[in-house]
Amino acid sequence: MGEKIVFENGKWIVPNNPIILFAEGDGIGPEISLSARAVVDAAVKAAYNGSRMIEWSMILIGEKARAESGSGIPKESMEKLMQHKVLLKGPLTTEVGGGGRSLNVTIRMALDLYANIRPVKYIKGIESPIKNPESVDMVIFRENTDDIYKGIEWKSDSPEAKEIRSFLLDKFGVVVSEDSGIGIKPISKAKTVRIAKAALNYAINNSRRSVTIMHKGNIMKYTEGAFREWAYEVARSEQYRMHTVLESELADGAVPKGKILVNDRIADNMMQQIITKPDMYDVILAPNLNGDYISDEAGALIGNIGVLGSANVGDAGGMFEASHGSVPKYAGKNIANPMGMIKAAELLLTFMGWNEAAELIKGAVEKAVIEKKVTSDIARYTGSKPLGTKEFTAELIRSIDGSA
Ligand code: NAD
Repeated sequence: MGEKIVFENGKWIVPNNPIILFAEGDGIGPEISLSARAVVDAAVKAAYNGSRMIEWSMILIGEKARAESGSGIPKESMEKLMQHKVLLKGPLTTEVGGGGRSLNVTIRMALDLYANIRPVKYIKGIESPIKNPESVDMVIFRENTDDIYKGIEWKSDSPEAKEIRSFLLDKFGVVVSEDSGIGIKPISKAKTVRIAKAALNYAINNSRRSVTIMHKGNIMKYTEGAFREWAYEVARSEQYRMHTVLESELADGAVPKGKILVNDRIADNMMQQIITKPDMYDVILAPNLNGDYISDEAGALIGNIGVLGSANVGDAGGMFEASHGSVPKYAGKNIANPMGMIKAAELLLTFMGWNEAAELIKGAVEKAVIEKKVTSDIARYTGSKPLGTKEFTAELIRSIDGSA
């Protein structure tokens, strides 16, 4: 019988037989999430020889759940989520321009998973569109519960949009044309402070070089501009002052030894800079929507978004998923690259403190890429014969079994 993972002041207390929730996802989700689960099981077995084992507990979320119960997250799934709090999840399809709120956002909000952490590190052997992909080693800290991304918005012809337009006109003399949909962009100080602390703590604990605040504060002054200000306040606070140096404090551009450089860049500039000067960027701290955009761009630098994993974590819970979506066009074709989902599972193991198993997965992925045993999205550039999702998974498991 498995046991629950418990959280104490943000710390994970993990039994040797933890229950971890598992949701297949939509589109390519079932193929890649089952692949990741099989790879994790192989790595845990190889690393701990039966003394540790995950008990997976399936929950229904997404299109299948909607077809069966009318809800994307049925009550039982939500209850299990709130009870167990740790989930490995395949990508979910979200309708554009209609339908309900994104299920991903719903889960992130329900468990208050405020930090979306996305490591973007080049894997040797993957074709990249840039000249020096070896210098790409960034970790994106995307705020996950605030911003326009929260989904507070109304259709242009809804009574709510009409009322808000009238309110703005009557109260503040602000004219918003009658055919406008309305979206609200809240950025809160408390939420900015906690994600800034998460990014700085990560930078300190992992000996990173810099933390760059990405914002569009020149235009959205009291939301993204405030995000910048509050993040700097954290960096200058007593708790972090001994670890940080701000760009404005550098006399000759040289960062004092042992200090983490904290700087900021305006979002549009930053989007081009990570392509032209990827070596300048290390930990990136961004509000929700900027973080979403820059993650896919950063993924492209190391091949494609199919290889990126992502951890959504809070003080008491975590959801681990690929950074990419459900790629409906590849569903059921044994084509999809499960690497993003596998990287997400590797992150899960790291958060659990099962680093030996995580290292086995990392090594197996690197070996497969070097040996050009990869799925078609990567093989098409390396000229090798592509493996299907299942064959690639079997290759990783063989490699893990062999290295144990
Ligand atoms: P997507 O990430 O699903 O696909 C974009 C492109 O990237 C694909 O056409 C494909 O060429 C490539 N790609 C991505 N992952 C791949 C993989 N594993 N293997 C091979 N190629 C891969 O993005 P989209 O088309 O914008 O979105 C499709 C659906 O996914 C939408 O409904 C969207 O809302 C949803 N989505 C979900 C999540 C999530 O669950 N966290 C994240 C992003 C998008």
